[in-house]
Amino acid sequence: MHEAEPPVIEIRDLHKSYGPLEVLKGVDMVAERGHVVSLIGSSGSGKSTLLRCANLLEISQKGEIIFEGEPIRWKGAGASRRPADPEQVRRVRTNLAMVFQQFNLWSHMTILQNVMEAPVHVLKRDRAEVEAAARAYLEKVGIADKADAYPAQLSGGQQQRAAIARALCMEPRALLFDEPTSALDPELEQEVVKVIKALAEEGRTMILVTHDMRLAADVSDHVVFLHLGRIEEEGPPEAVFGNPQSERLRQFLSHTL
Ligand code: ADP
Ligand code: MG
Repeated sequence: MHEAEPPVIEIRDLHKSYGPLEVLKGVDMVAERGHVVSLIGSSGSGKSTLLRCANLLEISQKGEIIFEGEPIRWKGAGASRRPADPEQVRRVRTNLAMVFQQFNLWSHMTILQNVMEAPVHVLKRDRAEVEAAARAYLEKVGIADKADAYPAQLSGGQQQRAAIARALCMEPRALLFDEPTSALDPELEQEVVKVIKALAEEGRTMILVTHDMRLAADVSDHVVFLHLGRIEEEGPPEAVFGNPQSERLRQFLSHTL
């Protein structure tokens, strides 16, 4: 019998402050392999901060982050806590690839160069192999014909799909999406939603911060509602959206649906 696989990412009792502002007040979250976890909540509730702490773009002050069964090792404590092992940080960051609201493509590089950049220069993978993979991922997100264009020549929806191809080309263990459709016009939003749904269907592990409750309901295995830095309610999408227990969640949903 196989031993149970550890979750791709597990977070326990995470605390994060910016100076005197306590943003995460003890948050637990688990993303099992092949699962989609959606994070919902009002603006300022700490969703982006949680994602950024998970892949070590931000340093939390307390609590555990466990990547594929391997706890992040820290030195120091509280405000002076830092990751102890740069190699571990690199591994976690490259394996939890982020897709941002604002795409963050490099404007002076073509789409193909954008997708190839990190695998070639950070991961030191073979250029020819990376190019073949990059073209396949551009095909997958439906913009193979834009390989030689520059970001400014693409629509917002195409730029975001390029950013998703770039994340996929890292061959990460999980994708972390931070409001990937929020900067898009409604008609372009659907192009990106389609790609996210396809990735969910092929069993990608994803953590998805979104204001799109329909998308969260469609793709999630688990939904987490953050309120003022705490998990107010969580559960399968049918329960969270269909039978919310907390008054705050009910209120939040009544404003968004
Ligand atoms: P959400 O993504 O849910 O809108 P954020 O995680 O971006 O929330 O922000 C949570 C809180 O932390 C907000 O009050 C925000 O102003 C604050 N915050 C976020 N990033 C920083 C930062 N780099 N410095 C100081 N405060 C920050
Ligand atoms: Mg945010």
